Amino acid sequence: MSAPALPCAVLPPASVLPPASVVPAAAVVPAASLLPAASVGSDVDWMHAALTVSRLAPRVDTRYAVGAIVVDHDGSILATGYTGETDPHEHAEEAALAKITPGTDLSRATIYTTMEPCTHRRSRPASCTRLVVAAGLGRVVLALREPLHFADCDGVDTLRLAGVDVVELPDLAHHVRDVNAHVLTAGQAG
Ligand SMILES: [Zn+2]
Repeated sequence: MSAPALPCAVLPPASVLPPASVVPAAAVVPAASLLPAASVGSDVDWMHAALTVSRLAPRVDTRYAVGAIVVDHDGSILATGYTGETDPHEHAEEAALAKITPGTDLSRATIYTTMEPCTHRRSRPASCTRLVVAAGLGRVVLALREPLHFADCDGVDTLRLAGVDVVELPDLAHHVRDVNAHVLTAGQAG
């Protein structure tokens, strides 16, 4: 049995990934080389990569801008996604998981998502929490629990009850708040 080939399209454009200081501006560097390598990539590194992806999301004041990256156990990137990637209602986790071939074994993979997967959706039949569980992902790493702004979600508890390993990186939550200042700042002011 051979593993299904991954389309190149799962990688975001190189322009979104780099700290500019890492690479000379004129250099052409494959996107993957700008992400953590398997041997050095920590949860914090991958979350920073997910934050970079989240900055691709259009800023709309009715939704958060979230980024997600699915990483296999060997450090290979299976997919990335961000809010509103293919339609205005699409969530980051949903966008990433949609790029993965159905039937792929994700039991040893991790999805890094900048914000807690949702448990309530108005525009879709399945929440991202359900999609994550249905995909068989073994591990979820997130930086910020969803604020009580649009919905009261309990993705962390729901995932743990479903047997998914959940890791939170609260030290990086302020980056997620920065990316979502278009929502959170307005909410606090109002
Ligand atoms: Zn969602």
